[in-house]
Amino acid sequence: MDSQPIIPEPLSANDKNSFAYKTLSYRLPIIITKVIDLLCRQRKQIISIDLKLPPEQQPEAEEETKQLIEELAKLKYELQTNKSIRPIVSSSLSDTQAWNDLLNEEYRHNDNVVYFNVSWLLSECYFYRMMHEIFIRSKYFQNFDQFFTVKKESFELCLKPAEKLAKHLLMLNDQQQSSDYQESTFTFYTMHSLWGNKFDLSLSCGERKQTGDFDFNELESKILVNDLKNFWSFMQQLLSGQNSNNNQNDKKSYRIDIILDNAGYELFTDFCWVEAMHTIGLLPKDQVIVHFHVKCMPWFVSDTMTSDIKWLLKYVNDTAGISLDLKRLNERFNENFRHRQWLIEEHDFWTLPHDYAQMPRVAPELYRDFCHESRLILFKGDLNYRKLVGDRKWNIRTSFKQAIREFQPKSAAICTLRTIKADVVVGIHDDPVIIERIKQFPSDWMEIGEYAVINFLKID
Ligand SMILES: [Mg+2]
Repeated sequence: MDSQPIIPEPLSANDKNSFAYKTLSYRLPIIITKVIDLLCRQRKQIISIDLKLPPEQQPEAEEETKQLIEELAKLKYELQTNKSIRPIVSSSLSDTQAWNDLLNEEYRHNDNVVYFNVSWLLSECYFYRMMHEIFIRSKYFQNFDQFFTVKKESFELCLKPAEKLAKHLLMLNDQQQSSDYQESTFTFYTMHSLWGNKFDLSLSCGERKQTGDFDFNELESKILVNDLKNFWSFMQQLLSGQNSNNNQNDKKSYRIDIILDNAGYELFTDFCWVEAMHTIGLLPKDQVIVHFHVKCMPWFVSDTMTSDIKWLLKYVNDTAGISLDLKRLNERFNENFRHRQWLIEEHDFWTLPHDYAQMPRVAPELYRDFCHESRLILFKGDLNYRKLVGDRKWNIRTSFKQAIREFQPKSAAICTLRTIKADVVVGIHDDPVIIERIKQFPSDWMEIGEYAVINFLKID
């Protein structure tokens, strides 16, 4: 008898009742319309201030915005009229081959490769990739991030909670390393990083709605899969494993990886999580190297790029009126990068449409590092979760381990911190209380970012 589990089909906008359909019909057109508006209204400012073009180039750059607007409008039209998804033609980018290999595979199996008939993962990723293509083919806008303004403004709105969190972090006691103290601090900062994921400008189509004031007691009941205890046990084991080696000279440094989601306040809470773990001795600074994985192009509106990290560090440093606590904490972040205890990693894989079960084949070197070097891979946010579980129509009771299929890095633990913004959730155990509660939820509970999951898995 075949014991292989049946892999359900991927989510797709071909289902009119799906969130994929809403996304392609409403959310993505709104997002691209806002980019067009931005180029219309603020082109002079973009050219002179953001791109810092010299005056003699500005008229030609301004002329070029007309071309960009035309091409963006065409992309929007092609999406809304369900046109074909075509191979990526030009492009100096290194991801073109991987994209076209995947598309050729799609053409072999599907004779109608259009936006509303392929997997949601493919159509949504393709849309952002094609938007980027328009800018990189231009003469003056190759380095333009069309979402920078909204990302920047989103963080500026959250200065108060950021200052409050900085104050808390600076008061953490680096001598008091009792297990209870470490656990409560670990929980507090993990909750900030988890709920920081509500700051997603893709879900809100670029509207800045969140303020950063969270009541964690109230929110606890909204975490539908909560493996926090297992995550905590692992963090303790990680530390005791390192400390059991009494020979100081043999103490090897080890690596953890954080696959980031959104820039701005969420990114700040992610940095705070790591810095707090350093401070209370759970991730000793002299032993841990932290790899932060970012996107290499503007992605899903608010996803973090290297430039967003640089902007955050510089903005807090340079801006008058920001609290001294936040500036001091920011200086610690800066030092971590300067001393190469924190590293920024870019890889094409994060902006390809492949799910993570395909990582061993599509990005073998990345997967090899995860298997052999990393001790913990922390996945932030909705898209990472979707890609881990293949963005498929799983029954919610499917185990997380089954849903991630071939993504099984042996030496590392996997943890996801995600607020739910897409209609795929797994790992809801047969707990009758939770199942009963879910029945009472609003019908769009998987689309609103109000509920969350913390999945933890250590593959042995
Ligand atoms: Mg995002």
